[in-house]
Amino acid sequence: MGLLDGKVAIITGGGRGVGRAEAMVMAKEGAKVVVNDLGGTVSGTGSDAAVANQTVKEIREAGGVAESNFADVSTLDGADSLMWTALSKFGRLDILVNNAGILRDRTVVNMTEEDWDMVLKVHAKHTFLCTRAVARIMKAQGSGGVIINTTSVSGLIGNFGQINYGTAKAGIYAFTKIAAMELAKYGIRVNCVSPSGYTRMVSNLPGMKDMNENIISVEPTAQLALFFASDLSKDLTGRVMGSRGGIHGTSVREFKMTMSEGYQKEGGVAMAKDIADNINEILFKEADLTMG
Ligand code: NAD
Repeated sequence: MGLLDGKVAIITGGGRGVGRAEAMVMAKEGAKVVVNDLGGTVSGTGSDAAVANQTVKEIREAGGVAESNFADVSTLDGADSLMWTALSKFGRLDILVNNAGILRDRTVVNMTEEDWDMVLKVHAKHTFLCTRAVARIMKAQGSGGVIINTTSVSGLIGNFGQINYGTAKAGIYAFTKIAAMELAKYGIRVNCVSPSGYTRMVSNLPGMKDMNENIISVEPTAQLALFFASDLSKDLTGRVMGSRGGIHGTSVREFKMTMSEGYQKEGGVAMAKDIADNINEILFKEADLTMG
């Protein structure tokens, strides 16, 4: 018995890295998987059907069931074609993982409009288009479903040089919370993973010099996605969690936007001077979270 027997799962960007690991583990647990991948560069140029096909080949060789889709999921036609692949090949839909992503790092003063738009489109718009398409189908099917989004500590905490990417990923945090509220009445759960993994996307970033695929493996994130996809998390929705590690061990955490206890002024407006006088009560005592 697999954790996902009889389920149909779509993984965007499932040809490489985190998405590939998620596709492999879900297929191993019995899901029929649609592996989507445009097969482009880290910055989102070009395309190559061999990337999605390779993961499909590996799933089939391991005894699983999978089909490829090569669409650009940041477009309406691409998102629709992905749903069509799932429905025409497998007849239903149960799980969507919005994972595809790119990077175009620049500091704010050097950021071009094109790099801003492209990164927001691939991360945030893709998440919206695929979620909308799948939620409509799941609503019509009438048997609920699971959507798993993908954020990053770059959006949850901040990371120098990633203002476009961090903005998109912080937006996906909010998207998860709101979609979870709106889709609960159809039995659709919406959660979010904050991945770690020594993939082509991050291996050249600062701080990665002494790392490798074994120390920061994609497997903990794939297991977290499996947890969210399966009934092991049947009571959870609107959660944002990260799992990071590898052969030396793994840490699993929840991320939350939160509010300080604060200062309360009775019977009127808190004036600028009141804020200054009570600033220690208003601010968090702890320092901000940091990367690493
Ligand atoms: P990766 O570059 O190895 O894989 C991303 C895949 O997405 C690629 O195969 C690419 O072809 C595909 N893709 C990109 N744009 C697409 C589009 N428009 N349509 C269809 N496919 C498209 O990167 P990764 O490290 O595996 O990242 C996967 C996700 O995890 C991304 O959303 C990324 O932002 C997030 N993430 C990764 C890490 C990490 O440590 N690796 C950390 C935080 C967040």
